[in-house]
Amino acid sequence: MPTICENTMQHLDVTFACFNNRVKFVNAAKKHSSKLASWGFSNAEPFLIAGPCSAESEEQILQTAHKIKAEGKTSVFRAGAWKPRTRPGSFEGIGTVALEWLSRAKAETGLPMATEVANAWHVEEVLKHGIDMIWIGARTTVNPFYVQEIANALKGVDIPVLVKNPLHPELGLWLGAIERFDAVGIKKLAAIHRGFYTTKPSPFRNEPHWDLSFELRAHLPELPILCDPSHIAGNRGLLQQVAQTAMDINLDGLMIETHVTPDKALSDAKQQITPTALSTLIDGLIIKQEEALEESVQKKLDDLRLVIDQLDHELIKSLSKRFEHVEEIGAIKLEDQITIFQIKRWFEMMNNRKEFGAKHNLEAEFIHELFSIIHKYSVKKQTEIVRKDAF
Ligand code: PEP
Ligand code: MN
Repeated sequence: MPTICENTMQHLDVTFACFNNRVKFVNAAKKHSSKLASWGFSNAEPFLIAGPCSAESEEQILQTAHKIKAEGKTSVFRAGAWKPRTRPGSFEGIGTVALEWLSRAKAETGLPMATEVANAWHVEEVLKHGIDMIWIGARTTVNPFYVQEIANALKGVDIPVLVKNPLHPELGLWLGAIERFDAVGIKKLAAIHRGFYTTKPSPFRNEPHWDLSFELRAHLPELPILCDPSHIAGNRGLLQQVAQTAMDINLDGLMIETHVTPDKALSDAKQQITPTALSTLIDGLIIKQEEALEESVQKKLDDLRLVIDQLDHELIKSLSKRFEHVEEIGAIKLEDQITIFQIKRWFEMMNNRKEFGAKHNLEAEFIHELFSIIHKYSVKKQTEIVRKDAF
């Protein structure tokens, strides 16, 4: 399963952004037909869900929906009726009345409507009001009881369900929620990558951890994965870059918070954009194809990959030799009653590898993560040797 470290991916964001500024592909070929195409919504490229974070007033919903419709890029309109807010006292949504505004927006614009549900009663209300698509929010995905309750309420209902990633980077919870909907027979299922809570300093509101999308894809290759750049970025300035990264890693669509007067929004004001800005963002995206179109390009890729395959085999052989020596050291440590972990050696090893890596153009963070894993498994191996002897 591919695991790419978060820091590397964060740098990739920047790299992608720089790259895209320098190189504009002329007539970039369209992406492979989206897995979402069979869901029966209009077939924009990329598949786009847009609308305000929250439904605030009938006027706000209707104006935003009409403007979004006029821009012609959006397949589904979104607005939250119930807002799961971290602290009480913030705007917690209008509730059921908002669903009536959405029905009216749908009747006037023809746009299908999506909203968030967080319990079985929300599901009932949403179905009564003819909502076309629902999503499970990050704060709900973390709770298997709620997810199961919602899934049970959806038994026998043919409505598309989009499952946002849980707040923290745990693939199991995300997969688990998707499996619960699959188990009750939901056929139109997709995931939304909205980033993950982090305590580390980050330019993002929610750390992308793109590697989790790769892992999700490795587990469920047929599942469409959309990206929610709004909740990853947390501010307008980063939206384009995050949306482009999502396209570059071949995600299947976008959900972008869009509001007629974003600065006046009652929730998530900093990350919302106007329908016009949404169009500019979408027009600025470079949609790439999954495979090379020209044989000569494919040949170049194949040749380079062959070299990489060989290098990786060499790497594995080196690692295998390294572990043989680790085992020998383990035996000596056992015999001489020496602790397995020695902090002085650890620092020496890390610093030396970082210096050596720098001479070979490898980032210190990359070396740190790589050798942390190698060292972790070395310690594990030696622990096994010591334990074997103990029992
Ligand atoms: C939202 O989409 O407005 C929302 C609350 O998102 P999340 O669950 O990703 O925080
Ligand atoms: Mn929001």
